[in-house]
Amino acid sequence: MIDLGKYEFWFLTGSQDLYGDETLRQVAEDSKKVVEAFAADKGMPCAVAWKPTLLTPDSIRATLEQANADPRCAGVIAWMHTFSPAKMWIAGLSSYRKPLLQFNTQFNRDIPYDTIDMDFMNLNQSAHGDREFGFITARMDVPRKVVVGHWGEPATRARIASWMRAAIAVADGKKLRIARFGDNMREVAVTDGDKVEAMMRLGWSVPYYGVGDLVEHMAAVGAADVDAKVAEYESSYSVSWGKDKAFALDHIREQARIEVALRQFAAENDVNAFTTNFQDLHGLKQLPGLACQSLMASGFGFAGEGDWKTAAMVRTFKVMSAGLGGAGRGDSFMEDYTYHLDPENGMNLGAHMLEICPSIADGKPSVEVHALGIGGKADPARLVFTAKAGPAVCAAVVDFGTRFRCVLNEVDVVTPPKPFPRLPVARALWKPAPDLRTAAEAWILAGGGHHTAFSNIVTTDMVRDWAEMVGVEFVVIDRDTKIPAFRNELRWNAAAWRA
Ligand code: MN
Repeated sequence: MIDLGKYEFWFLTGSQDLYGDETLRQVAEDSKKVVEAFAADKGMPCAVAWKPTLLTPDSIRATLEQANADPRCAGVIAWMHTFSPAKMWIAGLSSYRKPLLQFNTQFNRDIPYDTIDMDFMNLNQSAHGDREFGFITARMDVPRKVVVGHWGEPATRARIASWMRAAIAVADGKKLRIARFGDNMREVAVTDGDKVEAMMRLGWSVPYYGVGDLVEHMAAVGAADVDAKVAEYESSYSVSWGKDKAFALDHIREQARIEVALRQFAAENDVNAFTTNFQDLHGLKQLPGLACQSLMASGFGFAGEGDWKTAAMVRTFKVMSAGLGGAGRGDSFMEDYTYHLDPENGMNLGAHMLEICPSIADGKPSVEVHALGIGGKADPARLVFTAKAGPAVCAAVVDFGTRFRCVLNEVDVVTPPKPFPRLPVARALWKPAPDLRTAAEAWILAGGGHHTAFSNIVTTDMVRDWAEMVGVEFVVIDRDTKIPAFRNELRWNAAAWRA
């Protein structure tokens, strides 16, 4: 469902016309080789397109305006191979609106001590050419990423690939439609927010639909489509039929019907993320559970209780991580549910009423039908599993009125020391960094919500890059977090983001 290959990044090489034809021919050849190295690197999420060397203010402005206008272009990577006087870039950068990465590399990695002369120095001068460009982007306060390192080094290209994933998520967000079936859960504060501001800043469109629109689609789903979907569940998951197979099958079929209808609805309405609300299920027999889990597994963003910001973040994570998954690796809607307050071994149990994405499951999830004490509807079918152990991140976006703040916690998912025989929902047990007490205190001080987007693929750097690109405040809780310094960071941020 998510195709990163439909995007590309433009590789712009800056120079000037003082150098003469021979040097400029060499500059063009060198930058083509850098682009070829990107093309040969399987870690790149999409193509990097070489563009002719930029020598004049007009060509710079024209190129950056074309980048703005081209829907394939998700951002530009700029390299000042030689010196490119940066006043030439002001007009172009003034109108440029997409993500920008300055790649401070040099064609020759090493200094050739025995042979170096002034010709070599004049060709390998990004050490100062990129500083001139750095000044103007700093002076103009252009949102940007700077990556330093030799272009032939895989770790350097990996940093760029990571940034590219964040930039593609920004492009995806610009046209992201998050369908809300029902409004936010009544009286809940953190899941609400300014939908107009979200659209202006992030592109997120948050249209409301009556749940009846979905019910109408469900009524039109044929038995054959329901059968095919149930067969799909049976091949992907182990189905726990319980004591009454007919009862279980009937309830699983209902989720299949919801899923088929949701997919059809999403295709018709160009929707890639959605929310539900257990307070608004008119005409539905069950709270969507298995259906939401299955949709998340194929790349949809989702969150419960009308939480459109978290649904959008789950979709954002799905885009950032597309193609990197493997067994138990993925992204999910999550909620901080229950603590283990052992002072020596503090942990957090993440779960939701039903809707955790099976992409993060350790082993094969099981389809189960159980009663749900909330919502007053029939027993919903859901996938039950435990999340795979390993490092992960949880991130929430909250609305502070004058700005959005993204709070991220690095966590370490653990294999639970014992099974959960009476827990009929998917769950993830983790140790937050630096420890439960500090992490939870910091999270609460920052006003981070109870719902999060969870990923064991997306990295802190990707989310930081994304926040920089879209102009969202970003605070991280990690192994270095200390409460007094964190409180000060929040105070300083409040000053920096004052409207
Ligand atoms: Mn919830």
